[in-house]
Amino acid sequence: MITSQAGQQPADFTDVRATNLAVVLRYIRANAPCSRATIAASTGLNKATVSSLVAELIDRRLLRETGLTENRIGRPATMLVLDGAAYAAIGLEVNTDHLTVVAIDLAGERLLSWRRAFAGRRSSPARAVTAVAALARRAVTKVLAEGREVLGLTVGVAGLVGAGGVVRLAPNLGWRDVKLRDALVQALDEPDYPVEVENEANLAARAEFRYGADAGVANLVYLNGQAGVGAGIIADGQLLRGGLGYSGEIGHVRVQPDGPVCGCGRRGCLEAVAGIRALVARVGTGPDPEDLEPEVEDIVRRARSHEPVVVTALREVGEYLGHAVALLSNVVNPQVVVLGGYFVPLGPWLMSAAESGLRAGSVAPDAGGCRLTASALGQVAAAIGGAASILDAVDAGTLPVPTRTRPPVRASIGTS
Ligand SMILES: [Zn+2]
Repeated sequence: MITSQAGQQPADFTDVRATNLAVVLRYIRANAPCSRATIAASTGLNKATVSSLVAELIDRRLLRETGLTENRIGRPATMLVLDGAAYAAIGLEVNTDHLTVVAIDLAGERLLSWRRAFAGRRSSPARAVTAVAALARRAVTKVLAEGREVLGLTVGVAGLVGAGGVVRLAPNLGWRDVKLRDALVQALDEPDYPVEVENEANLAARAEFRYGADAGVANLVYLNGQAGVGAGIIADGQLLRGGLGYSGEIGHVRVQPDGPVCGCGRRGCLEAVAGIRALVARVGTGPDPEDLEPEVEDIVRRARSHEPVVVTALREVGEYLGHAVALLSNVVNPQVVVLGGYFVPLGPWLMSAAESGLRAGSVAPDAGGCRLTASALGQVAAAIGGAASILDAVDAGTLPVPTRTRPPVRASIGTS
């Protein structure tokens, strides 16, 4: 919490106020319902300041008063809760076989969650932009029709995403140097909300950190199991992006010197050996499929009936994952590694081998306290993370300003 920086230099009043607005908002997110007096007592802000901050947050439609009162001696207090229903953050994930979009309001309510099959490997970047923009536009239209405002759109891509939303390399999509953010802004006719592009595993890690079963665990790694394998790393409560944003590409660690050729052009990378496409190529029944989901369902069904080829293949995938998780454990000492994507439905057959690999490969006793778990957010984790990254920014003090007249919220339906 920051009030004012006494001494040294004059505090920037606008910055201090924005920071304090965020302090109150975060406090209420964690402790609602609560009164102005409680907020003042708990944050150290004085009561007059809290009243003024709360008035502004109500004005911005981020808080609302409830009829509840605090059960205490003296004058009953009006209780405050998060509102946030007026705003929606949209996250969208581009993968090799599907697009996923979710919208979440500021109070964490999931407003929509759609998944579309998408032939990513056969789509040029231009066709992908058209498909992504069409899905984003549908989500935006629905959110607006419900009388909400769009805080932003964040798109996750399985690849190296550099500054300005440029996808430098997405091996499994076959993209190189695609200016995805600019192309989407253009395809969406320069919308009045921000559009960002980020690595999908980074977004999924943010989703786990905000909404997952291990939310708030300060050292958390998300390991995504799609056609490729990638990690999103939260270290000391912050996303570890690295110099250019390329951290976490553990899928391209070589695990078999003479192994199969990877989408990145090298040989024997983890994802070429233990990624989902590699698994399907090894035990699948048909030709190289576009959509991995039915293939994974088939593998699960065969694993349940103890088909030896499938059970062995899954155990070996688990061993390679264990090797990768041990590398992560030795380098960043996570408290938890969350397996995501298709590793979730396959978890029952690969988890125990992965855990053994983690323990065998970690130099620290007890794997440095690292637990291995399967994501409870499922296949939509990266899309949720796209929305979460926007909501994280609000919590950090980038507060939305309503552009519509208020109240009532519903009055503006159909006018946009
Ligand atoms: Zn590779």
